[in-house]
Amino acid sequence: MFAVWNVQDAGSARKGGSLSKIFGKCANCGATILFGPSEGEHKFCSKKCYQFWKHPGYCEVCTQATTDESVGGTYTVNFVLGTRMMGFGAGCPTCGSREMRKWLWVILPLFPISARYRVLYQTSATFFSRKIRQQPG
Ligand SMILES: [Zn+2]
Ligand SMILES: [Zn+2]
Repeated sequence: MFAVWNVQDAGSARKGGSLSKIFGKCANCGATILFGPSEGEHKFCSKKCYQFWKHPGYCEVCTQATTDESVGGTYTVNFVLGTRMMGFGAGCPTCGSREMRKWLWVILPLFPISARYRVLYQTSATFFSRKIRQQPG
C-alpha cells in the first residue's frame, strides 16, 4: 500500500564546517575556543565550564552544608585594589564547588572579609555561592 523511500546522500551531508572543527565553541558558555578540555563532540573553554556542564549545580552534600545566602559580586579596580574570591583545597569531587572566602586585595591578598562560602563556577567569569553553615558547637 505504501512505499518508504529512504534515500540519503551521506557524502554531501557533512560538507563545510571544516573551520568549526578547528575553532570550537564552548558547550557551556558559547565562547569561541582553540584548545580546551573536551568530551566526545563537546568542547570547553575552561575546566570550570567543563565541570559545570557535567554537573550544572550543587550536589546534595554541598547543598546540605550551605544556606541560600550568596556572597554577592566581587569587584576589582585595575586588578590592584578590590575583592576577589580565594579558595584553598580541592573542589568537591561531585559538583566541583570549592570552599572560598572573599578577600580584600591591595596588590596582594590582605585578609578575608567574608564568611566561608561554597563557590560553584558557572563559567570562568560567573559563579554561584552558598554560605557554609556554622558547625554546631
Ligand atoms: Zn566556556
Ligand atoms: Zn558538591
